[in-house]
Amino acid sequence: MTCTTPVSSLNTVGKALEKRLFRLGIETTKDLLLYFPFRYEDYSEILDIANLKEGMQTTIRGKVELIANKRSPRKRVNITEAVVADDTGRLRVVWFGQPFITKQLHSGDEVFLSGKVDADMFGATMKGPVFEKIRIIHHEPIPNPPLKGEGTIRTAHTARIVPIYPLTAGITQKQIRFLIEQCIDLANTLDDWVPDDIRDQADVMSLAEAVRAIHFPESQDELKHAERRLKFDELFLLQLRAEMMRQAVKREQAPTMTFYEKEIKAFVSSLSFVLTKDQKISAWEILKDMGKGEPMNRLLEGDVGSGKTVVGGLIALNAVLNGYQVAIMAPTEILAAQHFASLKKMLGSRVNVALYTRTKKVIGGDISELHSDEIRDDNGGKKVSQDIITHLNTSPVQGGIGIIVGTHALLSEDIIFNNLGLVIVDEQHRFGVEQRKTMKRKITGEITPHFLSMTATPIPRSFALALYGDLDISVIKEMPTGRKAIKTRVVESKHRDKAYQFIREQVREGRQVFVICSLIVEKDEKLETRNLKFGNIERKSVLNEYEKLSKVVFPDLRVGYLHGKLKVQEKEETMKKFRLGEIDILVSTSVVEVGVDIPNASVMMIEGADRFGLAQLHQFRGRVGRADHQSYCFLFTDSYSDKVKERLTFFESHTSGFDVAEFDLKQRGPGEVYGTTQSGMMHLRLASLRDGDIIKTAREIARGLDFSQYPSLKEKVGEWEGMVHLE
Ligand code: ADP
Ligand code: MG
Repeated sequence: MTCTTPVSSLNTVGKALEKRLFRLGIETTKDLLLYFPFRYEDYSEILDIANLKEGMQTTIRGKVELIANKRSPRKRVNITEAVVADDTGRLRVVWFGQPFITKQLHSGDEVFLSGKVDADMFGATMKGPVFEKIRIIHHEPIPNPPLKGEGTIRTAHTARIVPIYPLTAGITQKQIRFLIEQCIDLANTLDDWVPDDIRDQADVMSLAEAVRAIHFPESQDELKHAERRLKFDELFLLQLRAEMMRQAVKREQAPTMTFYEKEIKAFVSSLSFVLTKDQKISAWEILKDMGKGEPMNRLLEGDVGSGKTVVGGLIALNAVLNGYQVAIMAPTEILAAQHFASLKKMLGSRVNVALYTRTKKVIGGDISELHSDEIRDDNGGKKVSQDIITHLNTSPVQGGIGIIVGTHALLSEDIIFNNLGLVIVDEQHRFGVEQRKTMKRKITGEITPHFLSMTATPIPRSFALALYGDLDISVIKEMPTGRKAIKTRVVESKHRDKAYQFIREQVREGRQVFVICSLIVEKDEKLETRNLKFGNIERKSVLNEYEKLSKVVFPDLRVGYLHGKLKVQEKEETMKKFRLGEIDILVSTSVVEVGVDIPNASVMMIEGADRFGLAQLHQFRGRVGRADHQSYCFLFTDSYSDKVKERLTFFESHTSGFDVAEFDLKQRGPGEVYGTTQSGMMHLRLASLRDGDIIKTAREIARGLDFSQYPSLKEKVGEWEGMVHLE
């Protein structure tokens, strides 16, 4: 027998069972070996019959004294009744509806019985235990501790930590264990794809040991080690793949940018605030990357409001000083416009900044013409577009565009850069491979620009390492000083009026307010129609709330609204009014979720808070508290389930996005929070994102690995890639 032997040649596998095994993806002995249990029952402790107590889950070892079938008097069910004895006493055993047992067990047989101990009028009884005849094996290739000094006993179903497999109908646990037992010694012939030195470094057992132990562990400790090894395999493969991608990127040529210390220092001191330590460290890490001549591929992670934009501005300026152009991409037109406004304000006197989105294109203009962060209208239409295209084709040193801010429109074919050196993507974890290629095509020659992604979804470090193995990561944890913690309160509906009263006072003090409506779905709506009508329903709930607030609750205040169905111009018009303080209360859908910066806003009120994930709530909350005034977040909900209560209570008392993310992960699991399609995560069988220490070890070993020294690893990644593509 070898690893490629078809299962059909195993003992007891007939046509029917073969078919069922195929359905589980098991065709060869190797497939069987790699078919892992999903849990275990620990029956390793063997007790004397005299010591059994009601309710125990345990194993006994004894001799069958009597065994017979009978019919139950009332129901017509077969009962198999047996008496089993050991040196300490006798035990009654019954099985229901399994008359064939009397063909397998006979008086005089020595057996193990594993199951639950019951007590009835006959005393201690085991009902329906798993049984296994004792087999003594004399030539044991794998050491197994002998029981009671009689040579080696091997069990698969009892008297051990028993594996439980994920099965479909038609196959029993006993059957699959029996099959795996037949070929378990083949584990020794499996190629260990992890080289010895790496195994030592990672401190994991050999593949052969791990595969044997995952099926038939001798102890909990051995099981833990086996799991660790097999999880390591999965996570290491993921890291190797990421590392290969990373090294491929690093082999490309990128502009070497020097640090324009004097100019950058002048820029920093021109700001109205002092950079936080984390902002400085992140900026420094990024500047160092860009000085290397190989493309940067970095993620800048920072809580909402931690000040990522200014870091982006600083490094963009340094790139322009080096004679390169910078593209900054935002996910929405509103955000692009906002970034344009703040960069123009920050850097407008030093750099030619332009805006390019589908509906809005702006170039030139003196900063003094722009009222604070107002945006100039695109009244030139085609001409402005042409102007931008021409100026993008001119070096920033000769008056060309230095920084262009935009949406995905920047990827369109008309856009060709003169000298693109840096791409910054906001509110995205990762820039897609395709988008990267498109961006690279916009540059002549063999140069690849530097890439920086910025995200406000705080991801605990170990998760980030697993999900973004190919990226370097900078983190801004610290918030700018002077920020007051946002006061978060879950408001009971009977106190709604008080909340409105509070809002009125805030507006009187000159502050502004967001009201977020969640999607209200009517009960009888089917899922498809629900998806189709998503936008409409959102619109409806916003308009209802707007009506109520503007006509009934706050007729004397200026109320505006925003939803996804509005035209871009309408949205921007509203945002502009809000920014300029011409609207006091803005009713909106989750459109305002990411990035919107209105420092004067101090209240975030969320309707139907239970319908949002914590990460999303945290994003909403991050829309206020962006200046020095005390800010508030009010949560309304009609749901009082324990889970909702627990979630919202946690949210009330925690202000750090990292804490909120950790809690969310514990409560809902990584699949729910980040999606399972992230970078091969769905291919994990045993490992999960929770295996932080293994992820770290795998990452550390993969980092900087010289693949030419390990051709087998390279090959393994290739194989795995092939598999992934097939699926
Ligand atoms: P985010 O990281 O969520 O993108 P922003 O970059 O929009 O945050 O910054 C939030 C606000 O904080 C902006 O108004 C910005 O001007 C301000 N800010 C940034 N850095 C600092 C700092 N070090 N001290 C004070 N305010 C700062
Ligand atoms: Mg931002």
